[in-house]
Amino acid sequence: MTCLDVQNRINDYLEDKMEDDELTIFLDHIEHCRTCRGELELYFTLDHTVKALDQDTYLDNLNLREMLDKQVADQRAFIRERESNRLLIATIIILTELMLFLVLFMFNADVSGIPYIQQLAKWVEGLFTDLSLNNILHTIQSLF
Ligand SMILES: [Zn+2]
Repeated sequence: MTCLDVQNRINDYLEDKMEDDELTIFLDHIEHCRTCRGELELYFTLDHTVKALDQDTYLDNLNLREMLDKQVADQRAFIRERESNRLLIATIIILTELMLFLVLFMFNADVSGIPYIQQLAKWVEGLFTDLSLNNILHTIQSLF
């Protein structure tokens, strides 16, 4: 993301309209670019001031810079949590499929008519010939 991209997305950021991937890139940029960070602080302050006025509350004791820092830290923590949850779910799905495949294999079931199982069988075969992470990730992606 260029500075212009980041500054064009500040509204989306404030309205929480970003996917995890772009949010991570946005936050990385904000962390290293003082210009964009300054711009974000400006809009963040404006946004909170308007909301405070709408709700008839006062911003006297609020440190908006600290609030923004906390929001960024919270968002990073949420993204990390979601990523590890996704990884956990993917692992459970793969293990379940492997168990299903092993059960079918043990009972000598005819799986030739089930393309999904055939694909899985190819994957298990491939595991023994190429154990590289890239190959495993590529095969997992092709299963979904
Ligand atoms: Zn920038």
